[in-house]
Amino acid sequence: MFKDSQLHPIWAKVQRQERVSPEEVLPLFKTQDVLGLGKIANHIKERKTGDRVTYVVNRQINPTNLCVLSCRFCDYASKKGRPNAYSMTMEEILSKCSPELREVHIVGGLNHEWPFEQYLKIVSEVHKKFPNLQVKAYTAVEIDFFARIEKCSVKEILSRLKDAGLMCLPGGGAEVFSERVRKSLFPFKIGAPRWLEIHKAAHELGIRSNSTLLYGHMETFEERVVHLKKLRDLQDETGGFLSFIPLAYQPGKTKVVDRQTSAIDDLRTIAISRIFLDNFDHIKSYWVTLGEETASMALAFGADDLDGTIFEERIMHAAEAASPVGMAKERLERLIRSASRVPAERDALYKIYPSSKDIHNERLALA
Ligand code: SF4
Repeated sequence: MFKDSQLHPIWAKVQRQERVSPEEVLPLFKTQDVLGLGKIANHIKERKTGDRVTYVVNRQINPTNLCVLSCRFCDYASKKGRPNAYSMTMEEILSKCSPELREVHIVGGLNHEWPFEQYLKIVSEVHKKFPNLQVKAYTAVEIDFFARIEKCSVKEILSRLKDAGLMCLPGGGAEVFSERVRKSLFPFKIGAPRWLEIHKAAHELGIRSNSTLLYGHMETFEERVVHLKKLRDLQDETGGFLSFIPLAYQPGKTKVVDRQTSAIDDLRTIAISRIFLDNFDHIKSYWVTLGEETASMALAFGADDLDGTIFEERIMHAAEAASPVGMAKERLERLIRSASRVPAERDALYKIYPSSKDIHNERLALA
């Protein structure tokens, strides 16, 4: 049935709904039977969410690219006085919001000229002016920065943000949980223990969060597996993660590696994530870093979500991502249908909107 005999025991375990170990999953990063791997991952995806693939009508807002850090792989951050440096006013930020949006995703640089109150005000103003818009804001790196400038605990920062209207946390800033990679690419940014501590604190306060892996640079397959294991362990403990989002590194100008990793590596990584993260409900095919074609193929390799309309993505596009900066809702739905899946609109917490087409009827239409 499988060309690679290593897939047989994995398939048997998946059918019995048993957990796969790090040792079992590691060799899969080199399997030549990519279609066989995809079949296993797809089986899990369909068991969890059937034919459905979700997306969200959202917008990214990156309020400032001024950042106290200079991570080696980052094309986005800038310093005061440089031509590309910017900080948005509150009016600019609010002008990017509208009642048609379900979710706003707010992340940016660690701007030492902005007190925490400024970051807090962004959340409270958006929430006040657009009460139906769900605010997903600030990575663990930003939360750590706020706690340091405010000289208070992470829990206090998160509680104040929650009171201001924060709905959930994005998953960025995790990069890859490896001290070796951290020392080389982002030595002054938080590492795995602090990232995990912050997400755990959020979950304990009832704030759901997302998780990511930045892959395709200098990390090893072993380091990818260690990363996945740490996420799976925390999810066992708290159950607070909404999704896992593998992010393909964009070489841009930083050129940690010369070219983006292959589509085959993308598909293997998504499939392995789906197989290994048995306690995660959602694996995202993030079209911004994958490109539309690979993102659409990933829907047959275990992914069940395409992210959203986004409108204005600045961070990956500063690193010369080839995808469009935003996508119309109709185009997202077309992409999903072209993969023989049924589109459904969701909110930031992955709740399906009642306005989404009736999935059963649409499945019949597809048959
Ligand atoms: S990756 Fe984040 S923390 Fe690092 S320089 Fe860029 S914006 Fe700043």
